[in-house]
Amino acid sequence: MNMITNHLPTAELQALDAAHHMHPFTDATGLAAKGARVIVRGKGVWLNDSDGNRILDAMAGLWCVNIGYGRKSLAEVAARQMEELAYYNTFFQTTHVPAIALAAKLAELAPGDLNHVFFAGSGSEANDTNIRLVRRYWQVKGQPEKRVIISRKNGYHGSTMGGGSLGGMAPIHAHGGMIDGIVHIDQPYWWGEGGEMTEAEFGLERAQQLEAKILELGVDTVAAFIGEPIQGAGGVIVPPATYWPEIQRICDKYGILLIADEVITGFGRTGNWFGSQTFGIKPHIMTIAKGLSSGYQPIGGSIVCDEVAAVVAEGGEFFHGYTYSGHPVAAAVALENLRVLQEEHIVEHVRDVAHPYLAERWAKLADHPLVGEAKLVGLMGSIALTPHKESRAKFASESGTVGLRCRERCFANNLIMRHVGDRMIISPPLVITPDEIDTLIARATLSLDECYAGLKADGMLVAKAG
Ligand SMILES: *Cc1c(COP(=O)(O)O)cnc(C)c1O
Repeated sequence: MNMITNHLPTAELQALDAAHHMHPFTDATGLAAKGARVIVRGKGVWLNDSDGNRILDAMAGLWCVNIGYGRKSLAEVAARQMEELAYYNTFFQTTHVPAIALAAKLAELAPGDLNHVFFAGSGSEANDTNIRLVRRYWQVKGQPEKRVIISRKNGYHGSTMGGGSLGGMAPIHAHGGMIDGIVHIDQPYWWGEGGEMTEAEFGLERAQQLEAKILELGVDTVAAFIGEPIQGAGGVIVPPATYWPEIQRICDKYGILLIADEVITGFGRTGNWFGSQTFGIKPHIMTIAKGLSSGYQPIGGSIVCDEVAAVVAEGGEFFHGYTYSGHPVAAAVALENLRVLQEEHIVEHVRDVAHPYLAERWAKLADHPLVGEAKLVGLMGSIALTPHKESRAKFASESGTVGLRCRERCFANNLIMRHVGDRMIISPPLVITPDEIDTLIARATLSLDECYAGLKADGMLVAKAG
């Protein structure tokens, strides 16, 4: 058997990595100088690296390992499916049992009349599907000029050309440009952008930008609005309570399709199966990936409502699909993941145990001198680092400088917590226990203390002017 070698010393692995492996979202020069951390094993919420460190993964990989690492039943299902039918496509009037079973299961779990699934290999691909799906929908309805999709600045919808364009991240647009027909409105980020407004007022103002944009562009040109129930990669930005009801009202009023990008918020993350349920959103399409398979296999998709599916079907062949749409091994593993989530009552664990326990402790972090707001929905949390809480001040240093210093303290303390600018974020495996939450909070607090002391010593606890 051709085993992947895992016996080389860390330095040699790092040198090979630097020589041959191009990393996503990474400064290759900086990484080559430092050497990548080599992760070798995972169990539950814990990771082991090649230096023997045991790390608490408070990010569940990239927000995806909802049921935790090291689940044998998923490995067994994958092996069995590979032996039985490793691959077949779902083009040209063929299908197979794993794709059928997973689509039917998702239709059962998804709210309302979201009953139809188009499979993709990832969240980015699923959002590319959504762009084509909503434009196709309006074509079939005889309104082909309705093709603009409205999205938000600092939203994240993936990194393909379509997904990256839907997302509102300027550094992504700067590397390779954007596709046409996508426009962005401001994000509902009260802590950072709310000024003197109350959260409630600000939530309405940001939602009403959608209405203004529809009227500016002309309702006859707008196909859809897309948003994450909670912005994840943008910094775990929880919108004010007034935001989503107003977005829903506007989409309903103008007959605009509403796409909820549930790639992170799906599959228990917010304490319900879907974030749309937590926020009372009624989308026409949901984007799913990540927690769909808990990251054990690459798979994503779009869950589509009856009406959109019916209209697209009416149009005849839809010229779109991926070689791996509904891949049988990925679908079988995703189905097993859903079985584990359901039979182990993991969504209920989030709602009734893990969230309440963490919420109490997470909120207390706001008492730390470095921390402004502390937000937590389900098991998706963020804290804003600030030199001055009362004025919600930003640091004088370039955004992300302090966040990176804090993340480095976390890594040194064997806690994986990410930074987005100067916000620290978590999204741990949903199976995290109260004991493990205690460890998470202890390590986070120690890291904040160390970061604070370092900033003080370096004279960096300074607010940006204005
Ligand atoms: C991660 C993410 C995506 C992209 O998913 P990939 O599988 O990385 O392509 C899309 N939308 C949201 C909200 C995400 O968090």
